[in-house]
Amino acid sequence: MANESTLVIIKPDGLKKSLTGNILSRLSETKLKIIGAKVLCVDRELADKHYQHLKNEPFYPELAKYITGELHGDNRVMALVYWGEKAILKVRAIAGETNPEKADPVSVRGAYGRILTSGLFENVIHASSSPEEAEREIRLWFKPEEIVQELYPTQEEAVTGLKRRVWK
Ligand code: UDP
Ligand code: MG
Repeated sequence: MANESTLVIIKPDGLKKSLTGNILSRLSETKLKIIGAKVLCVDRELADKHYQHLKNEPFYPELAKYITGELHGDNRVMALVYWGEKAILKVRAIAGETNPEKADPVSVRGAYGRILTSGLFENVIHASSSPEEAEREIRLWFKPEEIVQELYPTQEEAVTGLKRRVWK
């Protein structure tokens, strides 16, 4: 079995409930390698791209409010890339089923998720569900230099007149 990469997002409820440490401890049971990690703010554009397959679902407007932090008053999430054998399956097993009421109670979603009165599954964590999805998502959330391993082909781009913020 070849090694795989998978994207994990600790969603705004995970950060708000101070669950980051617990979730990372649970994920470390997999013995997978973390090859990228960052805290970032999610805007509507990133949300729409990430959940492109769900944009016509009746719950999408609420889901977009959730992942962009509007529901929790804080748009930070933690994004991580895990790498290793059967990474997708191992991380999904610890995450648990999408519906937190149906998820194994010892999974992250079973232990910490809930269903909102709107019906939305507030389920603490995102985990890629297939190699194709993982690649699309990792390319969306991370730049090549933010990952300590060469995962996918890259190219050099010459940018002239680019302004970027650096420390003073
Ligand atoms: N979701 C929801 N209700 C549904 C299906 C999905 O609230 O009936 C939310 C939930 O937060 C889920 C996210 O939309 O994690 C993405 O849905 P997906 O079907 O990709 O589930 P996942 O891969 O996250 O288990
Ligand atoms: Mg999914």
